[in-house]
Amino acid sequence: MPFTDWLKNRTQKTQEAANKRAVPDGIWSKCTICGKTIFQKDILNNFHVCPECGHHFGLSGHERVMMLLDDGSFSATEEDLWPKDPLGFIGSKPYRQSLNNAIETTGRREAVTTGFGRIKGNKVGFGVLDFRFIAGSMGSVVGEKIARLFEAATSERLPVITVVSSGGARMQEGVLSLMQMAKTAATVEQHNQAGLPYISILANPTTGGVLASFASLGDIIIAEPKALIGFAGPRVIEQTLDEKLPKGFQTSESVLNHGMVDMIVPRDELRETVGRLISGLSPVSSDQNLGDQVV
Ligand SMILES: [Zn+2]
Repeated sequence: MPFTDWLKNRTQKTQEAANKRAVPDGIWSKCTICGKTIFQKDILNNFHVCPECGHHFGLSGHERVMMLLDDGSFSATEEDLWPKDPLGFIGSKPYRQSLNNAIETTGRREAVTTGFGRIKGNKVGFGVLDFRFIAGSMGSVVGEKIARLFEAATSERLPVITVVSSGGARMQEGVLSLMQMAKTAATVEQHNQAGLPYISILANPTTGGVLASFASLGDIIIAEPKALIGFAGPRVIEQTLDEKLPKGFQTSESVLNHGMVDMIVPRDELRETVGRLISGLSPVSSDQNLGDQVV
């Protein structure tokens, strides 16, 4: 190697090491998209969105509840349901081990949180998938909780809001996961037949059997900017077709252009937008809306 190249290489490595030292954990974060180093508080105060490039970082189920619902209004339901390993599945590691790891690292029992609360004063059924728990995938418990949410919202005549970030149906539960697609879709349809609104919010990423069931059945489908939205991932499609996919394929912007979602809403406008839509769509026969109108 010529001396000048060696020197350049060494200078670059020294600079990289210095950059690493300059980013202590817990104070600064490096944006995975634009590469800028950002004060973590600035990200937190900006709805977990990069202030430099607008990248929407992932959120936990709890953070979604805090961000979308009125303070202190949320009450979780069906919290006694635990996932099982009905097939005794062993993939790259035993499913039971994946479940235990996910439970330990997230402090959650499953990928889904369901319950009831208020958005801008409107009472709603609310469900959210947390990507940190086995990629927000839908197994028996996730499907059952989503189905029960729609059933309860139908009997109470309430709108439903879901926020999805998911890799799809959970392969470790095999056909039992696939059955959840039909089950959740049927309960969404019952809710729909009752004339009640359902708003589905798609976050990055929304793929597979979750997109192919309840997440794509909203009366209004909202996407966060630049989310990956599609059935099979781009790598699988490229391998199957043996073709390079166009730039921007399967992004929120691309699926909006093709009519698959109704609007793209940045996270800082999400609560306002959903509140406005629910106020406009909710049947005025529900108690809380009658109350609001009389006042
Ligand atoms: Zn950024």
